[in-house]
Amino acid sequence: MNRRHRVDDLVRPDLRALRGYHSPQVDVEVRLNTNESPLPPPDGFADEVAKAVADVEWHRYPDRSAWSLREAIGSQHGVGPEQVLAANGSNEVLQSICLAFGGAGRTVLTFEPSYTMHGHIARTTQGTVVEVERGSDFRIDPTVADEAMARRRPAIVFVCSPNNPTGLAEDRQLVECLLDRAPGLVVVDEAYAQFSSWTALDLVADHRPLLVTRTYSKTWALAAARLGYVIGPADLVAELDKVVLPYHLDTVTQAVGMAALRYRREMEQRVALLVEERGRLAAALADLDVDTWPSDANFVLFRPRRVPGRKVWEALVERSVLVRDTSSWPRLEGCLRVTVGTAAENTRFLAALTEVLSQ
Ligand code: PMP
Repeated sequence: MNRRHRVDDLVRPDLRALRGYHSPQVDVEVRLNTNESPLPPPDGFADEVAKAVADVEWHRYPDRSAWSLREAIGSQHGVGPEQVLAANGSNEVLQSICLAFGGAGRTVLTFEPSYTMHGHIARTTQGTVVEVERGSDFRIDPTVADEAMARRRPAIVFVCSPNNPTGLAEDRQLVECLLDRAPGLVVVDEAYAQFSSWTALDLVADHRPLLVTRTYSKTWALAAARLGYVIGPADLVAELDKVVLPYHLDTVTQAVGMAALRYRREMEQRVALLVEERGRLAAALADLDVDTWPSDANFVLFRPRRVPGRKVWEALVERSVLVRDTSSWPRLEGCLRVTVGTAAENTRFLAALTEVLSQ
């Protein structure tokens, strides 16, 4: 009865060494740190969800396969429901991919710096992570990629396009080249694809080991709902179905996902607005004492030239503006990432940054 536990005696040894994923939330007026949509979903959406919630049979399990939602998502992309798997955020999709195709004794390749959850999920599912460095412009060098794939034979290659936190979308030729040479699965994480000029979705084909993941958290303004999905060949999607838990996607989330798709036009207008604001942000940053990188996403990476990134981050917080502090991340020394907000939020951020840099 009095037995006390020591965590280290209980937890998996490989987990002991891992740190969790943290994105500190600070109480500020302008939150530009997690690449969310700065605007809530369009008018009418909440009422539609409320109606759907009123009809929920709470004593019944959800549609286990979320088939209607898969059909609705699939029809957006011109594919059938058997080519779609929806889950609780694209993070759960990524985890399912690692459970089904990665795991113990298998290698997962990432191109760094990139979305840290790819490596983290690969590790928590006991895969061996091989990190390949991007070039100094943060692009993937196909020769370096090819060499790493030939040597390490990864079961999964993760490509984030546009890449978080650097912002650039990969070239189509690069993705095609990876598809030609990868010994296993290629996963293109398209959490930010609507902000970019191309998508790998039209490369999805029955014979090709390609999975493309998407999220509702950004463009669909639904980070609170936790919904993401993957499009791929039906036989690969069927394997993912084996690793998700029964009824993993609740009835409300399924209804939310279907309702959102009825507001596609509004979503596209919002994306156009954010792309315009991204241009304004990038142009203004170019006039300040910072280095920036071109972005195809709803955020911009920048590095103050003369003031340490951490100091700038703190000074922005003092002015009630929160950006993502990536300044201590490997390969991103001194860098900060700002999410594109509303015009007013961006103006506030730029004014604060200008003030901080001039001190
Ligand atoms: N992929 C990338 C590249 C992301 O930046 C994020 C969110 N930060 C996700 C996936 C996860 O999104 P969610 O789980 O909210 O769908």
